Parts: sequence; C-alpha cells; structure tokens
Amino acid sequence: MELTVETLTTWMNDFEAKIAAKKAYLSDLDTPIGDGDHGNNMARGMRAVTEALATKNPADLTTGLKLVAMSLISKVGGAAGPLYGTAFLEMAKKSNTTAELSELLEAAVLGIKQRGGAELGDKTMVDVWEVVVPEHAAGQLTSEKIAQAVEATKELVAKRGRASYLGERSVGHLDPGAVSSGYLFEALLETEGE
Ligand code: ADP
Ligand code: MG
Ligand code: MG
Repeated sequence: MELTVETLTTWMNDFEAKIAAKKAYLSDLDTPIGDGDHGNNMARGMRAVTEALATKNPADLTTGLKLVAMSLISKVGGAAGPLYGTAFLEMAKKSNTTAELSELLEAAVLGIKQRGGAELGDKTMVDVWEVVVPEHAAGQLTSEKIAQAVEATKELVAKRGRASYLGERSVGHLDPGAVSSGYLFEALLETEGE
C-alpha cells in the first residue's frame, strides 16, 4: 500500500498503544540480557511520537516521517532510539521519491543495519526487520510470520548491543528490540487491514 500521513498516524497510534500495554513486559525481557529499560525507553519515545503527530499536524508524509524519527531519536534514549530513529529517517528520505510502503521499509532496514552494524542472526531487532520486510513486499506478511521471527531470537547468541556482553548466556532469552519490532509490524498489519 501507499503510506500517507493519515495511515502513518494510525500506525503510530496503534504501535504506541501496544508499547504502553507491554511496557513492563519489554523491560522485563531486557532485565536478564540488558539493563531493564527497553519498555520504559520505547513507551517514553512513542508517547512523544503520538503527541508530536497530534500537535504538529504534519502536512505531508515526509514531514510526518521526519517528525517520528526526531521524536524517537530525542526521546527513546539507549541503543533502540537511534536505530528506530534511523529507520524512520531513511523512510522520510525515501518518501521523496515513493510512498510505496514496501520500498520505504526496505530503506529502513538498510539504515538500521548500517547504523548498528548488525546482521541477520545477531539477536537484535534486525532479525525481525530483515525477515518481515521481504514478506511484506511479497504481500505475504502474517501475524504468525512476525511471531516466528521474534521467537527465533530466543535461541541465538547475541552479537550486538548490551546482550552481547553475555555471550552464550544470552541464549534462551527473547531479544527485547525484536519483540518491540514485532509490535510495530503487528500494528502495521492492523493499519493495512483498516
Ligand atoms: P540499551 O541497550 O541502550 O538499554 P534498549 O534497551 O532500549 O537500549 O534497546 C535494546 C535493543 O536494541 C536490543 O534488544 C536490540 O534489539 C537493539 N539493538 C542494540 N544494539 C543493536 C545493534 N547494534 N543493531 C541492531 N539492534 C540493536
Ligand atoms: Mg536496555
Ligand atoms: Mg539502557
């Protein structure tokens, strides 16, 4: 589908609601393999995103995507802020030439990988983005596929971010950024279904 500033707003409001509902769970996931703040970081950031969209009322998609990116970068803090922020900043840049969501998402994945240096299998949010985005482009994305990509991070050894300090001891835990990214794509499926 083509993203508009209206569907972006619906998507972000839905994501914010999921993050708020799962705030404690996300921070709990970040406790054994991180510093226990991922839910708080994301909840603070997404509140800023939805507030900015509501109050600044961006006139077009590019302005809206930039606003999302800037809110995330300035309010999330931690590793996830600049990474999610980069994703939306790359989408903003790409939206100058296309509004096709699949193309925007492809630009976002490249941005996350470039910014954080993670590859598939490193037990990060990339494990969700890199699997989900091609499925979305093929028109075959489902909740089950999102859940599978999230679940697959459990058995991986972390190679990037705080969890990598634990090495093998990171095995057996879901990656919190993969779980929050799963909510982002769940919210997207719901937005597209509306
Ligand atoms: P911090 O680790 O600084 O406290 P958060 O807890 O908010 O930040 O976010 C942690 C999440 O960020 C991880 O679960 C992982 O998905 C993601 N992450 C961390 N480093 C990277 C990286 N280099 N590339 C991709 N994702 C990363
Ligand atoms: Mg953390
Ligand atoms: Mg932190």
